[in-house]
Amino acid sequence: QAATSTAATSAQEYPTTHEQISRPVDTQNFIDNEFIPSKATTWIDLHDPATNNLVTRVPQSTTEELQVAVKSAEKAFPAWRATSIMAKQQIMFKFTGLIREHWDRLAASITLEQGKTFADAKGDVLRGLQVAETACGITTQLTGEVLEVAKDMETRSYREPLGVVAAICPFNFPAMIPLWSIPLATITGNCLILKPSERDPGAAMILAELCKKAGFPDGVVNVVHGGAKTVDFIIDDPAIKAISFVGSNRAGEYIFSRGSAQGKRVQANLGAKNHAAVLPDCNKNHALNAIAGAAFGAAGQRCMALSTLVMVGETKDWLPGLAERAKALKVDGGFEEGADLGPVISPQSKQRIESLIASAEEEGATILLDGRGYKPEKYPNGNWIAPTIITNVQPHMKCYTEEIFGPVLIALNVDTISAAIDLINSNPYGNGAAVFTRSGSTASKFQKDLNVGQLGINVPIPVPLPMFSFTGNKKSVAGGGANNFYGKPGLNFYTQWKTVTSLWREEDALTVEKEAVMPT
Ligand code: NAD
Repeated sequence: QAATSTAATSAQEYPTTHEQISRPVDTQNFIDNEFIPSKATTWIDLHDPATNNLVTRVPQSTTEELQVAVKSAEKAFPAWRATSIMAKQQIMFKFTGLIREHWDRLAASITLEQGKTFADAKGDVLRGLQVAETACGITTQLTGEVLEVAKDMETRSYREPLGVVAAICPFNFPAMIPLWSIPLATITGNCLILKPSERDPGAAMILAELCKKAGFPDGVVNVVHGGAKTVDFIIDDPAIKAISFVGSNRAGEYIFSRGSAQGKRVQANLGAKNHAAVLPDCNKNHALNAIAGAAFGAAGQRCMALSTLVMVGETKDWLPGLAERAKALKVDGGFEEGADLGPVISPQSKQRIESLIASAEEEGATILLDGRGYKPEKYPNGNWIAPTIITNVQPHMKCYTEEIFGPVLIALNVDTISAAIDLINSNPYGNGAAVFTRSGSTASKFQKDLNVGQLGINVPIPVPLPMFSFTGNKKSVAGGGANNFYGKPGLNFYTQWKTVTSLWREEDALTVEKEAVMPT
């Protein structure tokens, strides 16, 4: 099957419709502003999750190709670093304009390779675009600090780029997460090696094409492919100074510890188990609608999906109302009119999710709504699971201890607000949480007491806009969350502070006594 692919000559040919994949093309590396067919001997087949037809083959790039990419970035760095901030800003303006122009094309590639609905894929692009748009206004944020610390003596502290940096991305946001790195890494003067997920690199390839069109010089943005072998290369190559990783705990904890041990900066956003506490005094209709969207949208494959409900007191009786809303969601191919959620990423993922549902059943939980076995008529071969709700869950059950990452919502019951807070805080993950209440004081208690990165108060998926930062907590972020993505911490991650103290004085007054002690 793999041999059916033929090499593409430019990003233009990357498919964005089900029809185009009747003639699959190989995914190429993007090095030195050129799309280059890989000489790989190992290829990763990428299938459309709605049909399981082959879309493309993704190369496990050879070591030589990876070395060429790093050399290209190293070569580009001195001139890019010296390029004026205003010139960089113009390229970023152009880049954002091109993303808007190619918005539908990017979204279609995401729907084809990742499976999410076209409307949701447009949101994926937009949330990344907003980071790039914010980067256009970075000039004022990049200024340093200066103070006359003594007569004629000045200390200035300012940011310098790191050099060559790398980003390793997950499958669930094929445009947004590459765009957490491309704009900020480059506007701060670094050159980037981007490794998209081998499961859906199409959007990153289109972004590479747009980088070139926007005027990024050769080697400033390179895209290379592969799995763990490419990641190990990135960790070990001494020219790469920093790594941005988003993905699972399994990969991220490894990358963080091995990368940090080599003295690299690593920012790593990891897995999640996001809880929503539903309180009896909340607006019931708002809460149930918000939860249904946040649990099942994108087939539950968002790191901020609300996957776990904590029903406080009588709200446990609201679950049938939630099941009605979940049942009304249309599960279909992402390009189909009215589809609310698409397939999950792969047959293996479907199998893993179904086995977690089965484990809940075996451990004594109740399957209130069972989405197993569903198939839309037009797409009988896709990786389908319809919304599933599991109730009467206990914290020791596997469906609670593991990240499910599918359209499965689990519900636990507690009697009090304190019990809800204790439960959420006892969970090892701390990405996001939500609380639904009309009480300001209750909301304030959740705000103060919960150990999570992002809290939504009557807001189901509180992903911070790019003037803020994505702030995980506990096991959802490596290194205790010291290196957050985008916002002010994002700028810090991509820059090295330098502090210079200078003495400029008239020549005849410039006499310093020989002194061996610290001045007092
Ligand atoms: P993943 O960890 O399988 O893959 C992410 C990247 O790591 C890919 O580029 C992949 O090639 C690489 N990789 C995978 N296994 C590896 C290994 N053993 N060694 C080295 N590299 C490896 O993650 P995924 O399945 O693509 O994404 C889903 C996960 O990402 C979920 O856990 C989700 O919660 C998490 N996520 C977190 C955030 C966040 O901001 N906290 C955002 C999006 C996704």
